[in-house]
Amino acid sequence: MNGPPVDVAIVGGGPAGAAAALTLLGHGRGVLVLEQSRYAPPRFGETVAPPAEPLLRRLDAWTSVSPDMLPCGGVDSAWHADDLVERDTLWVPGGLGWHVERARWDEALIRLAERRGAMLVTGCRVTGVSVVAGGGWRVHAGGTTWHARFLVDATGRRAELARRVGGHPRSAGSEVALAGRWSGAPDRETRLLVEATPGGWWYLAPTPTHRVACLVSDSEALRELRPPPLAWRRELARTRHVRERAPAAAPALRGVRVEWRWLEPCAGTGWLAVGDAASTRDILSGGGMVAALQSGISGAETAEQYLRGAADALSRHVTRERRRFLAHVRQSAAWQLGHRWPAAGYWERRTRAAEAVIRHLEGTAGSS
Ligand SMILES: Cc1cc2nc3c(=O)[nH]c(=O)nc-3n(C[C@H](O)[C@H](O)[C@H](O)COP(=O)(O)OP(=O)(O)OC[C@H]3O[C@@H](n4cnc5c(N)ncnc54)[C@H](O)[C@@H]3O)c2cc1C
Repeated sequence: MNGPPVDVAIVGGGPAGAAAALTLLGHGRGVLVLEQSRYAPPRFGETVAPPAEPLLRRLDAWTSVSPDMLPCGGVDSAWHADDLVERDTLWVPGGLGWHVERARWDEALIRLAERRGAMLVTGCRVTGVSVVAGGGWRVHAGGTTWHARFLVDATGRRAELARRVGGHPRSAGSEVALAGRWSGAPDRETRLLVEATPGGWWYLAPTPTHRVACLVSDSEALRELRPPPLAWRRELARTRHVRERAPAAAPALRGVRVEWRWLEPCAGTGWLAVGDAASTRDILSGGGMVAALQSGISGAETAEQYLRGAADALSRHVTRERRRFLAHVRQSAAWQLGHRWPAAGYWERRTRAAEAVIRHLEGTAGSS
């Protein structure tokens, strides 16, 4: 079966895909978004950083998503020392961000694109793409094939499509995130808590409907602590602050492997990758969603220029994404300087991974 032809097919309906769709719709483009999920299972990433607001306003999306965002009441962190350092919204311009129920938030943004005219197909996993002689793509999902002039890979950190059309994933080490989730809206506690331990670090965040305590570590550090629920509980017991604030009941646990990963190149003839598909952010930065919105917007502007005949726009996208990623990794590496356990295996591997990315990107900077 054939779907109707479109200007741009966006594969993946996370924040990057939604931002790209809204931007292209603003240019009057015919947009198709194919999303494998139905936004039912919970998603990782509960805190939206303040720079999201101007980006969402630029997309005219702020009023659609903000009612479901719980203002972050402050950040308590035990990072450079054992005791908590408290930061309150009063003193930070733009506040400290918002907590969201991610699956719901992602769906609200993509449904806005649908209301503005995007063709959205959920529950639709794209399994292949092929080049059309003379230009454009065939995009295959289930029994249906769509034709698009341009392809945007917004599939997140696996960059599923880009790697089939010429993007090479690079990686420098990986981490594991294990999140416990309790249902029930927080009553008064809307603060974010971050705590480092020798074997990793934790965040405890409320969402509008849940509380989440997430351990970020790596498989080497957790090797002795299998299975995952045991590892999570043992590491929780090593915290000072998270264990005090986390609910006592056993939570539902989910895990995910997260790589320091980026794509080379992140664009080629007739396609580009945005968001995590182009490069993943350090979870600690709490900036993955902002980066995804930013990349989705600028990637869509690039696609628009390309469709109008500016073929060199694609190489500018590659340069811009690489520059942003390098700045991010430098910032992430700096944040680890002077850390309390420089010789602990996890922190050493994390620092080495960041340094390897920086060395590689500095070595290749200017080659595109
Ligand atoms: C444990 C953890 C905690 C995090 N915490 C935060 C945080 O607090 N704040 C923050 O800003 N960021 C956080 N992040 C990072 C943030 O979640 C990501 O950077 C962000 O989701 C990237 O958005 P994206 O749209 O590029 O990709 P994604 O959000 O991953 O979206 C990709 C979409 O593509 C779909 N898809 C994938 N393959 C296919 C396919 N073949 N066909 C069709 N659809 C497909 C997926 O279902 C998904 O909807 C966290 C990440 C992790 C792992």
